[in-house]
Amino acid sequence: MKRFPKIREYLINNITSNRFKFSLILYAVTFVHSFYIVLFALLGVVPLVIFNIFSVALYIACIHIIKYGYEKNSINVFYATYIEIVLHSLAAAICIGWSFGFSQYLIGIIPFCYYICVTMMENKQRYSIATVLGFIAYISFIFCRMITLIIGHIYVLDISPTTEFLIYTFNATSNFIFLFMVTFIFIVDMQITNNRLHIQNAKLDTMASIDPLTGLYNRRSMQVFLDDALASDETFSMVMCDIDNFKKVNDTYGHDFGDVVLKDIAAIIKQLIGVNGNVCRWGGEEILILSNDSMDNTCQIAENIRKTVENHVFSLRDTSIHCTLTLGVATHKKGAPIDETITHADGRLYYGKQNGKNRVVTPYDTA
Ligand code: GH3
Ligand code: MG
Ligand code: MG
Repeated sequence: MKRFPKIREYLINNITSNRFKFSLILYAVTFVHSFYIVLFALLGVVPLVIFNIFSVALYIACIHIIKYGYEKNSINVFYATYIEIVLHSLAAAICIGWSFGFSQYLIGIIPFCYYICVTMMENKQRYSIATVLGFIAYISFIFCRMITLIIGHIYVLDISPTTEFLIYTFNATSNFIFLFMVTFIFIVDMQITNNRLHIQNAKLDTMASIDPLTGLYNRRSMQVFLDDALASDETFSMVMCDIDNFKKVNDTYGHDFGDVVLKDIAAIIKQLIGVNGNVCRWGGEEILILSNDSMDNTCQIAENIRKTVENHVFSLRDTSIHCTLTLGVATHKKGAPIDETITHADGRLYYGKQNGKNRVVTPYDTA
């Protein structure tokens, strides 16, 4: 049991590699054909012994091609495998007849054709190629049956029904294992690809909605929260924040110091708002808060933010400074457009800037 996670990890790491998939299938068919050499030698069917010696040599060559990085040739390896399976089924039917089940591989090969053609070929005709190959397999299957009925077979084997049944069962089992393998690999491959796509989509979503410097939502994604707030029946408030004399901070201590100030202030606001609202970087150093709290509570939180920023020490390398923030609060009136509320918050922020900065301006101050 302890080894299972390792097997799982190994499969996850390798199953999307074409080299791994091919090697797995090629080792399986090499094993089966090696068995056939012994089987046909015991049964005295010389043409099939020779055929299978060539088949094993072909598969060893294919394993070599895949192993040493000739992944460009993997489609040719697939064609070689396909042709070998079709010819082997025909040869076995002509030599020893239908009852040993060698033709069953012609059914098992169809999902393999679709899987390989669709996942590995880049041309537009890949579905058509898979369909044509599948159709050839079907025609060959019917042909095998027809020829054995009309002409019979070359070798009449002197074996018991049990031996015949065992050979049939071996072929059926190999064919089923082959089908299980192809289906399993296909499903796991699809699952892994889906998971990777989900992770990439989540990353892209984050990249598209989060401001990379501050970690706050960007203006575009804030619009979704604003629309939600408008659509709901709940009252909400907005707070527009702007760092005081920020240009001076940049000019005096450098742009990277300005970035530290912006990041720290964003973190403070995000923490103090918590789950009661959403915070976004509205513009350069302007931060907009959408508060789901009552107006009074929002004013209190805004004051708390102001004080926390005022007392915070912003540091980079050897320099430490204090900065302040001015905030304008507005409550949304039901039915009013969202821009109106933002304009009110902005207007109060402007009022705060004109009247000393480092302050919270609420509707009570300017009403
Ligand atoms: P006031 O107190 O009136 O707000 O004065 P201020 O100097 O802060 O003026 P304003 O709000 O117009 O400042 C905007 C400045 O913010 C200009 C721009 O260089 C700076 N800024 C905008 N985005 C960034 C950023 O991502 N990083 C840094 N370091 N500075 C930024
Ligand atoms: Mg400013
Ligand atoms: Mg500004």
